[in-house]
Amino acid sequence: MQIKIKHATLEIVQGDITKQDTDAIVNAANSSLLGGGGVDGAIHRAAGPQLLAECRTLGGCATGDAKITRGYNLKAKYVIHAVGPVYRDGAHGEPALLASAYRRSLELAHAHELHSIAFPAISTGAYGYPMDDAARVAFATIQEFLKTHATPELVRLVLFDAHALQVHERVLETLAGG
Ligand code: ADP
Repeated sequence: MQIKIKHATLEIVQGDITKQDTDAIVNAANSSLLGGGGVDGAIHRAAGPQLLAECRTLGGCATGDAKITRGYNLKAKYVIHAVGPVYRDGAHGEPALLASAYRRSLELAHAHELHSIAFPAISTGAYGYPMDDAARVAFATIQEFLKTHATPELVRLVLFDAHALQVHERVLETLAGG
């Protein structure tokens, strides 16, 4: 499923973030940037050990922020390591921090003049963010960014399983007015 936002396309697909051929893929990293499970582990395995070597030079990353590295053995030229919040109850700044993780990633893609970027559903795995709430935050933030920036022209959300895709489709339909 995809929608147009000004001149850009926002699309949601089921798949594996490590296989995406976008200019950048986003890693749902933790603040150490030294690797972990889930998406993070999969990206480091696919990119090779040089990725961890570069991450070691970055001095970590605050929650809600993002940092960019090369992609090494990935198809994507860059990895944008974004740190989403651990979900407690939604009343500890989680929505703002999640929105910030998406916005900072898009800002880095824009600053590097990238045409396309693929995101996983940040914070919805080990960090426990309810999937539909996270989807609303992700779409609202992406939409707002694309209204005011001409690049990236393609933003793809890559959902790992059919259920995650379904949840995101439902949320995007309401946003698109459908
Ligand atoms: P976080 O710690 O930010 O919650 P996780 O990596 O635990 O990050 O999970 C984030 C989301 O990514 C979850 O919805 C999980 O199912 C999904 N996911 C796990 N592996 C992949 C993958 N290879 N490609 C895309 N999404 C993935």
